[in-house]
Amino acid sequence: MSKGNIYVVSGPSGVGKGTVVREVVEKNEKIVLSVSATTRQPREGEIDKVHYFFLTKDEFQKIIDEDGFLEHAVYCDNCYGTPKQAVLDKVEEGYDVILEIDIQGGIQILNKLPEAMGIFILPPSYKVLEKRLRGRQSETDEVVKKRLAAARNEIKQSYLYDYFVVNDELELAVEKVVKIIEQNR
Ligand code: ADP
Ligand code: 5GP
Repeated sequence: MSKGNIYVVSGPSGVGKGTVVREVVEKNEKIVLSVSATTRQPREGEIDKVHYFFLTKDEFQKIIDEDGFLEHAVYCDNCYGTPKQAVLDKVEEGYDVILEIDIQGGIQILNKLPEAMGIFILPPSYKVLEKRLRGRQSETDEVVKKRLAAARNEIKQSYLYDYFVVNDELELAVEKVVKIIEQNR
């Protein structure tokens, strides 16, 4: 059995990364999502160990000290990291693994693992991005403003990625991502 590939999927907060990747993994059973660790508080409906490993700062630091993350980054005041062994095991088992992570972590992975590929999800416009971010109603106005400011910088650095997908019509964006992954097998 051949090994799977690692895909870094990034894009500004609210662009729809989570929505797109959830549908991608439903369409193909050989594509799986890496579950990240974070120090941020769970949103309503988020389940520990399913959506994230929700950790305290001390627990997060312990994993850093043990070199247990493939990458980690601070995004808008919270820590996020990709557990290393779980990803490497899935790749060995032949699964394509999606890391839905911010661009700082994404660039760390693309530099560290040259075989990994980057897919950057773009909004159709900044206006639509703001509408989606506010429409999710999961962040305060202050956090929304911070995330929108971060979006401009993230898009500037997106040239380091291999593929670009505009998430306008959800179904089309999902199909594009599935096609990219399948064509690299
Ligand atoms: P991200 O993971 O990038 O922060 P989410 O997946 O949480 O973004 O999506 C942000 C909001 O935008 C959600 O309310 C989601 O339902 C909505 N959304 C995602 N994709 C689309 C799309 N193609 N068209 C319209 N709304 C979308
Ligand atoms: P959220 O708080 O909206 O779930 O995520 C905020 C940002 O952190 C998003 O851009 C998301 O992709 C990113 N993120 C989630 N998990 C990780 C991770 O393990 N590492 C890094 N670097 N970023 C992550």
